[in-house]
Amino acid sequence: MALTGLEIYKQLPKKNCGECGVPTCLAFAMALASGKAALDACPYVTEAAREALDSASAPPIKAIKFGKDSVLGDETVLFRHDKTFYHPTTLLIYVSDTLSDEELSAKLQEIKGLEFERVGLQYTIDGVAIVNDSNDAARFAKVAATVAESTDISLLLLSDNPEAVKAALAPLVARKPLIGAATADNYEAMVNLAKENSVPVIIKADGLDALNDLVEKAVALGYKEFVLDPGSRKTVETLANLTHLRRLAIKKKFRPFGYPVIAFTSNTEPLEEIMEATVYVAKYASAVVLKTSVKAHVLPLMTLRQNIYTDPQKPIQVEPTLHSVGNVNENSPLYITTNFSLTYYSVEGEVETSKIPSYILPIDTDGTSVLTAYAAGKFEPEKIAEAMVACGIADKVKHRNVIIPGYVAVISGKLAEVSGWKVVVGPRESSGIVSFSKSLS
Ligand code: SF4
Repeated sequence: MALTGLEIYKQLPKKNCGECGVPTCLAFAMALASGKAALDACPYVTEAAREALDSASAPPIKAIKFGKDSVLGDETVLFRHDKTFYHPTTLLIYVSDTLSDEELSAKLQEIKGLEFERVGLQYTIDGVAIVNDSNDAARFAKVAATVAESTDISLLLLSDNPEAVKAALAPLVARKPLIGAATADNYEAMVNLAKENSVPVIIKADGLDALNDLVEKAVALGYKEFVLDPGSRKTVETLANLTHLRRLAIKKKFRPFGYPVIAFTSNTEPLEEIMEATVYVAKYASAVVLKTSVKAHVLPLMTLRQNIYTDPQKPIQVEPTLHSVGNVNENSPLYITTNFSLTYYSVEGEVETSKIPSYILPIDTDGTSVLTAYAAGKFEPEKIAEAMVACGIADKVKHRNVIIPGYVAVISGKLAEVSGWKVVVGPRESSGIVSFSKSLS
């Protein structure tokens, strides 16, 4: 259980020197208890006190790293708007070792195609979960090796048989796969295998009480690189388990549940499966294993994940420089917008659809949309005129017409005055650009 501020205070040096950034040891203790400070900020804590305070100073959910840059956990809040979520849910595609060689090859090709671009950012699927459905250790090892050879993304080796995992893991240790699952029946062998090879391991039990018992037994083996699986496969039960696990870890700092959690989809109809996965991405799976690998199915899930895992205090932005759409020339129109990615890419998409090669100049508004930027004084005529000069647009086109969003028609007079260009008021919404562009010719 988490220590209270007063319990933490008893362990502190009580010098009240302020070197930790707050004036007194008591204030520091309160900040530690609420997760707003790190114990390392105090240079005078003794080793004995550090040990005693471990539960108060450790992150509520341990960061577990595996494979190619996959980081699970290390989250500090229940709700994104409280601060932010840090590590996007790792998405893995289920690959059964019962697939024939031809089916396996086709599946791997499909997985390779899972690459996306959205609002200027590139995404690929994160990993492959190789599952020992065949119960044949040799086939499992062969399929794992084939998958590893075909892709460098993260790997999960999943079998109830520690010997099968051991055989598949041996040639792949350098890839640092996640392995599992350690259950009540095999946890000693599975956890020791993970410990010997320094790879993380899934701890799986049916229900939270059993999971608590199993985690404590696994910790007693001297290893803590765990990912939890509460065993449920129905959406409602899994959502309840994921929520309880996150609340207990964050609010109560309950150490046995201070690890990231993995969820497995159970729906076999792909669109229902994706809906199920969206529930787990939203609350609170650090990794989700999916059966479908069809691009059209996975794209909405990745879009949702991107939306949830952006920092609400740092909107996604594009470079506030001159962008060209199509083969621009001296007659190409110039559109002004803001550098908020969603705004910019909405405009860019419509300009592209208009099939008129055009310039777009996104103004640096700290990633805010047009009306927000205008209201905050970040989309002012002087600033737009300066950006037009800085990007050298006057040397690229022979006309002197600049198109501004309809929502800020009010700035057209001033912008014309400070820029010397004719200001054309464009549509309010980017969806009006295609029909608006016809009036330009
Ligand atoms: Fe107390 Fe340590 Fe902070 Fe100094 S640095 S005020 S001793 S907690």
